[in-house]
Amino acid sequence: MLYQADPARYQNMEYRRCGRSGLKLPAISLGLWHNFGDTTLYDNARQLIHCAFDHGITHFDLANNYGPPPGAAEETFGRILNRDLKSWRDELIIASKAGYTMWPGPYGDWGSKKYLVASLDQSLKRMGLEYVDIFYHHRPDPDTPLEETMAALDLLVRQGKALYVGLSNYPADRARQAFAILQRLGTPCLIHQPKYSMFERWVEPELLDTLAEHGVGAVAFSPLAGGLLTDRYLHGIPQDSRAASGSQFLQPQQLTDERLNKARSLNALAQQRGQKLSQMALAWVLRGDRVTSALIGASKTSQIDDAVSMLANRHFNEDEIALIEKILM
Ligand code: NDP
Repeated sequence: MLYQADPARYQNMEYRRCGRSGLKLPAISLGLWHNFGDTTLYDNARQLIHCAFDHGITHFDLANNYGPPPGAAEETFGRILNRDLKSWRDELIIASKAGYTMWPGPYGDWGSKKYLVASLDQSLKRMGLEYVDIFYHHRPDPDTPLEETMAALDLLVRQGKALYVGLSNYPADRARQAFAILQRLGTPCLIHQPKYSMFERWVEPELLDTLAEHGVGAVAFSPLAGGLLTDRYLHGIPQDSRAASGSQFLQPQQLTDERLNKARSLNALAQQRGQKLSQMALAWVLRGDRVTSALIGASKTSQIDDAVSMLANRHFNEDEIALIEKILM
């Protein structure tokens, strides 16, 4: 069936300025790490993308290695883009990354210029794109000089293969050094992508302040802790869930009593607020103005609907914030 984007798609989404750049991102972004590989149904993947775009989610986050197998998510996305979304290319922010193991040998991993340039070329081919909107270095490389990695990002922008550049998983001190190099090169860092949720708060002591100080946006990945901060696991492990899928990233033993008890207490508070736990968890990540966008994953369109309807109820009073802190202690 021919896809027609919903004409009302920009009515309910909130767009937030990414740092001090000219770019605005939707408060909710969709990541393609899971559910877009070869083992998932193409029709479902297609519906997820349509649903997201129809809700005004303009930002799609990929990486060279998303699959399985690595590269498959970009291929799936490329197919959907080519078939359905071609005429909306200028309404989309498409991001990719390189930094984790992608191909064998010394040039398929980490942060060399050789790897980043080759990898982005491969990503563009897989997606059938001339350029990505954001290209990230996916993780810090302890061995490659930071100057080389940042010069590679700058080069890719100058070659027209990326419009903006970002960093992911960089600790605050390394991020500051990278920002200075990029600034000097004339390609300021647009965005940082760290893991951030009620269960993963490493960014709070230093990184978020550093980003605000440098005018760099923040897109928080895994804001639902892969599903732990939803009602998914409150009564066991559903067959169709990530934890039941054999994924190494959410194993049943990670569903500890301690975490589940916290999730149950948070769920009770969410219910008092008239929303789902997943919605409260997203609202919490977006509280204040330091996080530009919450980057969710989804296996069903209803999960995207949930995320977007959170926007109607995303403010907390002081008592609620204090209670959340107490539960998370
Ligand atoms: P989330 O924390 O949002 O977890 C998503 C999962 O939570 C879904 O797959 C689904 O699980 C469950 N879920 C979502 N909404 C609901 C709901 N309303 N009710 C019940 N369950 C729900 O994020 P991810 O861990 O998937 O990561 C999101 C994105 O972040 C990735 O796709 C990727 O783009 C990016 N990322 C970046 C990394 C980096 O190093 N830069 C690393 C990891 C992720 P189920 O599948 O069981 O239905």
